[in-house]
Amino acid sequence: MNAPEDKGPIVGIDLGTTNSLVAVFEGGAPRVLETGGASIVPSVVRYEQDPAAPGGVRTIVGDDAKARAVEFPGRTISSAKRLMGRSLNDARADLPYLGYEVVEGEHGQARARVVFEDGSSREVTPQEVSATILRELRGLAESALGRQVGRAVVTVPAYFDDAQRQATRDAGRLAGLDVVRIVNEPTAAALAYGIGTRADATSGETVAVYDLGGGTFDVSVLRLTPSGGEGGTSFFQVLSTAGDTRLGGDDVDHLLVSMFAREIRALMDGEEPRLQVAGATKERGNDLSAFPPSTRRALKVFGESVKCRLSEDDAASVRIEINEGMVYERVVTRDELETMITPWVERTLGACGRAVRDAREHLGSGGVDAVILVGGSTRVPLVRRRVGEFFGVEPYTALDPDRVVALGAAVQGGILSGEATGSLLLDVIPLSLGVETAGGAVAKLIVRNSTAPARATEMFSTGVDGQTSIKINVLQGEREMVEDCRSLGVFELSGIPPMPAGIPQLEVEFLVDANGVLLVSAHERRSGKRAGLQVVPNHGLTRDEVERIERESFTHAREDMTRHRIADLITNSSLDLKWIGERLERFGDRLDAGAREDLVAQIASLRGMIDRARADWRSVEPNALHAAKETLDRASVRLQEISISESLRGDAEG
Ligand code: AMP
Repeated sequence: MNAPEDKGPIVGIDLGTTNSLVAVFEGGAPRVLETGGASIVPSVVRYEQDPAAPGGVRTIVGDDAKARAVEFPGRTISSAKRLMGRSLNDARADLPYLGYEVVEGEHGQARARVVFEDGSSREVTPQEVSATILRELRGLAESALGRQVGRAVVTVPAYFDDAQRQATRDAGRLAGLDVVRIVNEPTAAALAYGIGTRADATSGETVAVYDLGGGTFDVSVLRLTPSGGEGGTSFFQVLSTAGDTRLGGDDVDHLLVSMFAREIRALMDGEEPRLQVAGATKERGNDLSAFPPSTRRALKVFGESVKCRLSEDDAASVRIEINEGMVYERVVTRDELETMITPWVERTLGACGRAVRDAREHLGSGGVDAVILVGGSTRVPLVRRRVGEFFGVEPYTALDPDRVVALGAAVQGGILSGEATGSLLLDVIPLSLGVETAGGAVAKLIVRNSTAPARATEMFSTGVDGQTSIKINVLQGEREMVEDCRSLGVFELSGIPPMPAGIPQLEVEFLVDANGVLLVSAHERRSGKRAGLQVVPNHGLTRDEVERIERESFTHAREDMTRHRIADLITNSSLDLKWIGERLERFGDRLDAGAREDLVAQIASLRGMIDRARADWRSVEPNALHAAKETLDRASVRLQEISISESLRGDAEG
């Protein structure tokens, strides 16, 4: 244990059924800890006989244990969380899926029996297995932080009963961790988004947490009860939970794999009966057991990767060489996948319906105020869409759904240790929010100190002819140029039909909701294309940092304004030069020689200034640049008239 004067941070641990993570609250924000680039520790432990180890057995935790689980099924323990604090009887339904032996221990408690190759065995309690994982996480945290870690907040599912919670505490103790608090996973997810961490938290706010992982689905409805006092934290009451312990992303992998297997079988049967897999008959069509285990495993991994690709892209092409000369090739579209998985998504919504009904008397007519997505399977676009439609609010996706629970556990740890008090738990937006515009300038949509919720929209367009995609860089800060602000994220609006510069009508909307989550959406009106991004702007900001940014903006105010003005002048003058240049080429011979020479000289002068300004903005006086642009505009009036009459004539003739 650490000395009392330096108890170290209170880390937050997401002790999951399949994966575990540890996070810490530091410098105003929670972050997931990692060593050597690895942060996710699979919740898998392998036992190995080793005469040199205490008790003659050593453990291997995480990636290695997971990767070789098929090789050592009898002594690799996964999903121990399903056994935590449960009797053998209670756990019976889970046993067929575990792959190792489960026996009855003291007081009827479920235990895993680890069987070694020499026939010897040993019994381990789920608490011991979990302790091994917690010890691994503790070690990871200590090496990431460079200091000792003795205290943790650990999360558990909202439906865990007292025995399951106590077992989790015991696991912590065995791992040398003082579990200062057990927090419900959905509550942690809400804390990660800053819900309930503000002193002014609104009473009765309800939050639905939709958690769809690889093999389990949970939905919870929470209600926030504010502390009522300054500095105190609010608490969450779990109004209802529902779910399915056998529903998750794995089901989607299976659907894809069955489809591949069926089609591969058809191909083999149809084209080359001799290549038929041993023992398979037509009736067993898509039965995977017709394939050898190595092929089945490969197909499973492949199915998952196709699924993940379809979360990003509209289609994924698949090519598997089956045998000499025989190739299975096809394209799977997202639409096709969505049709296939609709019943699966609807099953989760059925549980959401039950949870909402159970919470009904507390919800009143208002419904839920916010929906948080947790778990890797919530990256599936259909899931996001249908959950949003079901609850009637845009779900929160700003944080990584695999990390949000650990991040929230760290926030709770930060609150308990006092570390979180200096962070930005306020209802004002502390720094301005905007987007990058041409020339590296920043257009601010929401100015600092606006109160949340806040909404702003602005119209933009393209600067180049035929541009079919627009990158939107979302920025935070008080300075005028992109390089002096903090980028919160970039997204792309693509699929815009080619149009001349300035014609697309891009509406960008910023919405900061009551919880401080920023939703940016971009909509090109002519094509109807949309794209968006969500972020939590205050993550990673401390009060000190906000003050520094503010001070700097004052110091640089004058030169920043100049620079912004020059950037705008460069953009606008370039468009003018392009337009005038094109018309001069077409209609120049209809101007008097004097006027034409005049125009050519002014074009050269403005172009020269722009080139200099591009190289070094300080080398040009903005008023002079402005004047040169105005002079050129005035000198081109005649050319504009000619051009307009030409185009009118063109219209009349056409
Ligand atoms: P979790 O249990 O929360 O780690 O979630 C794991 C599940 O999320 C697995 O079924 C993964 O295949 C699934 N998953 C992870 N990333 C994606 C993605 N980009 N698209 C679809 N499913 C994903």
